[in-house]
Amino acid sequence: MKSNSMKQEKMLSDILESSKLPTGRGSCCDDDDCSLDNTETDPLVLDGLSRAVTAMLEGIGEEPGREGLLKTPERVARSLRFLTKGYREDPEEMLKKAVFTEAYDEMVLVRDIDLFSMCEHHMLPFFGKAHVAYIPDGKIVGLSKLARVVEVFARRLQVQERLTQQIRDAIQSVLNPKGVAVVIEARHLCMVMRGVEKLNSITTTSAMSGQFITSQPTRSEFLRLIKP
Ligand SMILES: [Zn+2]
Repeated sequence: MKSNSMKQEKMLSDILESSKLPTGRGSCCDDDDCSLDNTETDPLVLDGLSRAVTAMLEGIGEEPGREGLLKTPERVARSLRFLTKGYREDPEEMLKKAVFTEAYDEMVLVRDIDLFSMCEHHMLPFFGKAHVAYIPDGKIVGLSKLARVVEVFARRLQVQERLTQQIRDAIQSVLNPKGVAVVIEARHLCMVMRGVEKLNSITTTSAMSGQFITSQPTRSEFLRLIKP
């Protein structure tokens, strides 16, 4: 148990390390030139969302007119559109662009794919790692696309269970491989911040198909390979 909690702490410190706070006027990135937040350009979409954020600020008892909050509605609107951009991407089309014919028929595994998503119940983040494996049957896909398919589904409102299955199903559908296995380990801020569960609780979900279900040695090999 001890090594497990150390492992969890290491995972969190890795994530914090890779997302160090930028220097700026506030304690977070409030740079209006942030390119990530400027991906949405439709003024109607931004306007509607901004007004909703203003209503939220009023609803929680804030004063949307005070200095620090003046640009917050638009910032939150842009940020939300970025964090949910997966709705406007087609994961299967994205995968199809990088499919190659290849006789390789051993397991292909990409592990420790960083994952950031938002739970659909509270719209709070959950984040962690995804491990994605498949056994080709005449077709392989560019390795980066396995990480991309995780991202496309993660950038939507999700429950971790469905996210795991959607990744499996998209890969299964496009490559028709001998099997797909997806494991996600994540921390849910709706549990951590709201004090429902312990700070370090990690939720693990898995979705498998084909040989990962029918062949015990294959499943065991996969589970062994994703162990830290
Ligand atoms: Zn939640």
